This record gives sequence, structure tokens and C-alpha cells, in this order.
Amino acid sequence: MSDLIVIGGGAAGWSGALAAAQRGLEVTLLEKLPDSGGSSALSGGCLAFAGTDLQIAQGIADSPDILFDDLREVGKDVNDESLVRAYCDAQLATYAWLNDAGVRFSPVLETASGQSLPRVHTVDPADMVRQLRMAAEATGLVAYRPNTSATALVRDGSGCVTGVALAHGDIIDARSGVLIASGGFARNAELLERYAPHLAEAVFVAGAGSQGDGLLMARKLGADVRDMEFIKGTFGKHPTDETNDHSLQAVYKGAIAVNQDGRRFVDESISYKLLGDAVMAQPWHTAYQIMDQGIFDTGDNRVRILDFGRRLEEGLFYVADSLAELAAQIEVDPETLEATVSRYNASVDDGHDAEFGRKHLVHHFGALRKIETAPFYAYPSTAVVFGTYCGLRIDRDARVLNMDGKVIPGLYAAGEVTGGFHGAAYMTGSALGKAVVFGRLAVLGIAAR
Ligand SMILES: Cc1cc2nc3c(=O)[nH]c(=O)nc-3n(C[C@H](O)[C@H](O)[C@H](O)COP(=O)(O)OP(=O)(O)OC[C@H]3O[C@@H](n4cnc5c(N)ncnc54)[C@H](O)[C@@H]3O)c2cc1C
Repeated sequence: MSDLIVIGGGAAGWSGALAAAQRGLEVTLLEKLPDSGGSSALSGGCLAFAGTDLQIAQGIADSPDILFDDLREVGKDVNDESLVRAYCDAQLATYAWLNDAGVRFSPVLETASGQSLPRVHTVDPADMVRQLRMAAEATGLVAYRPNTSATALVRDGSGCVTGVALAHGDIIDARSGVLIASGGFARNAELLERYAPHLAEAVFVAGAGSQGDGLLMARKLGADVRDMEFIKGTFGKHPTDETNDHSLQAVYKGAIAVNQDGRRFVDESISYKLLGDAVMAQPWHTAYQIMDQGIFDTGDNRVRILDFGRRLEEGLFYVADSLAELAAQIEVDPETLEATVSRYNASVDDGHDAEFGRKHLVHHFGALRKIETAPFYAYPSTAVVFGTYCGLRIDRDARVLNMDGKVIPGLYAAGEVTGGFHGAAYMTGSALGKAVVFGRLAVLGIAAR
């Protein structure tokens, strides 16, 4: 018997396992696949932290309070204030803790979806999970069991969760509780049909284990859920490219998005999840991110979502010396595209985008750039569902709550399996951030009790 059973070996699970072992708890971590890592290891490696040494060294005056305001605003205030506050209170200590565990952050800081300051802290995501796992196993207190799927939660007579049933019928017990860290359900067609029928035409990219197991197990015990109506795709995925799992966010450097009619259809500075909704409403569910050489040159090959050079080398951009030629390549009426760009450039000069009200590159950050210097570029873009970002209702100690808002004793959840934190839209880096912050917070609560 161990003190804590962790279901799932992504960023949330390994964070929980490490934090528990550091407090002297014996942990069993179950991973259904041959290798742990989940969506975390596949991800873009962007984490949202505020007030870090990297930001201070670059003169970026960020703080937990600004992060709080941005998270609430991007979540349209329907996210759970207490979870957002818990994240903001714990994120800086979690960032330091990750550094101590051997996770290495790039010195490059960028601004992306929902952020009013450069706050994207980037890691090699597979290496982050590896470092967490190595640190956890080095304690000698973590038993890692790959190829082992949890199938049900076990309770005692008083309703307290005391263990987990495995696929072949065995039951393993835990003295202090079970932490569900099994990720989302972007690979479960039935759940997607129920909760996200509007995304039937989107592209899906997620870890193979993202099948909603933990959500379904906890639902059987009466767990409540949050944010199920807000599943969204991220704008910026090339519709046919299968070599890059990631989206590209040229809009956040100044590109505009035009549809197949050659017209803008949205304020491009909003959350890329809301841009995802907007593109799904366009003909063919597709748009083009249009930019000029000046904007192209602001790309950053150290951040996957801004690595324009790599996508160019891979032949994924259309490039032309004039907007009319570019329009011909993407089969848009040239006069319409020229008129769209010229209207947009005039609005940059005026400081007033009468069509869609765009004021910044991204969220409240960055001055708009005109599209005027050849060559011109077009990147075909649709929406991609990377994760479901909704699910089990938890409190600020990551305890799972039932439909009456009461704690299900012995049951904790962290990471993508949980709902309530993001709300109606999404800040870049807040899903990986949520996984590590709440994976660790769950255990601080267990250890304190
Ligand atoms: C391509 C891509 C890019 C992304 N980029 C970013 C980004 O840059 N920044 C960001 O914040 N977010 C990003 N995300 C989202 C983010 O990566 C995830 O939300 C987050 O990593 C989820 O972490 P997790 O630990 O909760 O789940 P996961 O990392 O998915 O781990 C869950 C683990 O649980 C295992 N498991 C599932 N069921 C069981 C079971 N029954 N028994 C045992 N094990 C089980 C799975 O196999 C998996 O290993 C991206 C996602 C993708 C797919």
C-alpha cells in the first residue's frame, strides 16, 4: 500500500508524485500507456508565470495580480475566481520549484493569447516531464507502473476514496488519497460528440491516453463538472500539414486573418480559442494569416508557435511579391484582398479599426503593424483541438467536489481533467501551468492534513 495513488503520468501527475515524495509520502503512479508524458510531452512547452526572475531581468513589470486580471478577463469572468487566485498565489513558488527539479526555461519571453505582457515561459516539454519524473524517482518513494490502466475508484463504507481498481481486476489501496491526473478527452469520440459537436470538423491533436478515463471514473462517484460548454479549438493550425502538431500565431505579431472571400472576420488580438470559434464559422472552416516581410521578421525560432522560418522551410507558406499574386495563389479575388489590406493599413494609421475594433497585437499588448513590404505571406489556418480544458470541479486545494459542492473525501484532481479554471476562453501557457501548479497544490493539501 502507498500513501498516494496518482492516475496518469503527464505534467500534473509527475508534479504531484514529486511533491508528495518530497514530503515523505509513498506514491504509486499509474500510467496506462507504455510511456508517460501524455499531452504534456507533446505540447508547445509554454507556461504562464508572472513575476519571475527572467521577467525582472528583462524589465517586464508583471505580477500575480496582473496575471489574475488577465486570466479573469480572458476567461470572461465565468472562471472560478478561487481557482484563478490559487493559481496566481502558487505559480511563482511552482516556477522556482520546477527550476529546482531541473526543468530549464528558455530566456526568451513572448506575449501570446490573453496576455497583456510577455509572460510565455518556454521549456522543452518532453524534457520537463522527464526531469519531473527523474526527480520523483530519485527520492526512492515513487513506484512507477507503466502499462497500467486505472479503471475505477474504490471507496470505503464512509464514502472516502481509498484506492483504485486496475484493468485486470486487482485493487490497490492508498492511505491518504487518489490524485486523478489522467488528462482530457480529446481522443474520446463519444465524449466529444456529447460536449463539442460544434467541433466535428476541427483537427484534433492530443496524447493517446486523453480518453476521459478519470472524468468518467469520478462522475460515477457523483463528481460535479465545470466549463463543459467551453471546449474550443485553437486558431492557427495548417489544415493539411501533419508534421507540426502546433498552431502558428502570426496574428499575434501583426498578421491579419482573412477568409476565403478575402475579408477579415474578427479582431485578431483576442484569445486564440475565440479565434478558433471564429474560423470554424468561415467558409471551409479555414482562413489565411496574411503578413508582410516586416512582420515575418519578428518571428522567433525559439518559440514553436512563432517559428515562421521553420514553416517557410517546410513549404507551408504561400509567398508572393505582390498582394495580387498572393491572392491568386490562395484563390481569393485579388481586388478584394488588396482592398482588405489597404483598409486595415488605413485603420493602423488612424489608430481606429472601425471594422473589428482591433487595438493591439495580442490582448492589451503591442502596437499594430501595417502590411506593406514585399514579399507577402499567407499561412492557411483552421482550428485544432489540443485539449478539452474542462471537467471535474475542484476547490483551491484540488479536492474534487460533488454536485452539492461537498468534498469527495480522499479524491483529488489536477491538470486537464479539471474544469473551472479557464472559463470561456484561454491564456497561452495556462494549461501546462495549471497542470504543474495544481498537481503540486493537491499534495500540499494532502500533506498538511
Ligand atoms: C500539441 C499540443 C500543444 C500544446 N501546447 C500547450 C502549451 O504550449 N501550453 C499549455 O499551457 N498547454 C498546451 N497544451 C495543452 C497541455 O499540454 C495539456 O493541457 C496539459 O499538458 C495536460 O497535462 P495533464 O498532466 O493534465 O495531462 P497529460 O499530459 O495528457 O497526461 C495524462 C496522462 O494520464 C494517462 N492516463 C489517462 N488515463 C489513464 C488511466 N485510466 N490510467 C492510467 N493512466 C492514464 C495518459 O496516458 C497520460 O500519460 C498543448 C497540447 C497539445 C496536444
